[in-house]
Amino acid sequence: MRAMLLDSVRAPLRLAERPLPAPGPDQVLIRVAACGVCRTDLHVADGELPDPKLPLVLGHEIVGMVAQIGERVEDFAPGERVGVPWLGWTCGVCRLCSTGRENLCVQARFTGYQIDGGYAEYTVADPRYIFRLPPEYGDAEATPLLCAGLIGYRSLVMADDARRLGLYGFGAAAHIIAQVARHQGREVYAFTRPGDEAGQRFALQLGAVWAGASDQTPPDELDAAILFAPVGSLVPQALRCVARGGTVVCAGIHMSDVPSFPYRLLWGERTVRSVANLTRRDGEEFLAFAPKVPVRTEIETFALEDANEALARLRRGQIRGAAVLLCGVNMPDRGSK
Ligand SMILES: [Zn+2]
Ligand SMILES: [Zn+2]
Repeated sequence: MRAMLLDSVRAPLRLAERPLPAPGPDQVLIRVAACGVCRTDLHVADGELPDPKLPLVLGHEIVGMVAQIGERVEDFAPGERVGVPWLGWTCGVCRLCSTGRENLCVQARFTGYQIDGGYAEYTVADPRYIFRLPPEYGDAEATPLLCAGLIGYRSLVMADDARRLGLYGFGAAAHIIAQVARHQGREVYAFTRPGDEAGQRFALQLGAVWAGASDQTPPDELDAAILFAPVGSLVPQALRCVARGGTVVCAGIHMSDVPSFPYRLLWGERTVRSVANLTRRDGEEFLAFAPKVPVRTEIETFALEDANEALARLRRGQIRGAAVLLCGVNMPDRGSK
């Protein structure tokens, strides 16, 4: 099969021929149709997350078809369409796993980081951690639901009942969560990189009541803000815009250092918190909910071998919505726009 390989951190991905992975007795082999490109992939490729498997196949927003099942697999059959998310394995017995917080399991293993992911024509996965997907979505359109949507949704839940919601970084996650937030009757305030007028227009098209640069103060005080941009200086900036009792949720897996800031920004029972990974329950809830909104994903597609270009455009903030690699072997994109 063809795969885009990360041989070492900070190196470009390399197109390689690899043997077809063989599923173990408890695994499934998946023929990948499409794989979303997530900001986390850049953090892995840049060496900002410790000890990735190397060489590595990136990608944790995988949509494909079960091609073969291991001898002990009962829940899935060949031909079924599935989605593979970031959470690839948990211990199942620790204090966190046994209290509904498997996203925090210290031994957890993640797709496209410690387990080979979806920048390839095939991948293997543990079927206990994969999802069936709502039929309303084509393959490519469904990919961003699997991380941007899922972890964005978990972040939105952490924002509690906030009515005026700030979203910092209007990329794949924010463009989905803005739709969910509107559906829930919230007001969305979108913050982009200064000068990104296209991003601000995109946010307004998706129903934001206000869009501006991340260093601007919106006309109204926010009840909560979610930071999707991996920029630590946005933490005090967002706190300045959040009302008493409000929350700033940091949704990314990596962020540049948070600068020191005056205590008065936190005073008034404001909260700063992070959101880590996802639970399988988050996945089931969000994938059932997304078609009811209905969330529509805006995607830009790239051929598998153009993964470096997709990553470079994502880094520069030049993707409208989500970047998606089309990985299928002679497979028409069933999720064309
Ligand atoms: Zn555990
Ligand atoms: Zn992700």
